[in-house]
Amino acid sequence: MKTKSKTQFEGSWVWKRKREKILLRDEGLCVECRRYGRKDREGLPVRATLVHHRIEYEDAPELALVDSNLVSLCEACHNRAHPDRAAKKGTPPRFGR
Ligand SMILES: [Zn+2]
Ligand SMILES: [Zn+2]
Repeated sequence: MKTKSKTQFEGSWVWKRKREKILLRDEGLCVECRRYGRKDREGLPVRATLVHHRIEYEDAPELALVDSNLVSLCEACHNRAHPDRAAKKGTPPRFGR
């Protein structure tokens, strides 16, 4: 059996629905920023722009839709979560919706 590629997975309706659910669960806020009490320029809680897999899809496709493996992050925190990915330019960050 062949697993779907990550791109295929991210385009799927199951993922889109799950992503909405996770953003809702985290109240649309970046959980990392919230944990450290970080605020944005206007002094408001930092909004999440995407949902990140704690364990990468490539490493554990079976965890791709498990809530505990998913976390809403802002772009800065997401870049920190993927230091190698942030280093290379060219791939624009994927925003929610
Ligand atoms: Zn953040
Ligand atoms: Zn990620």
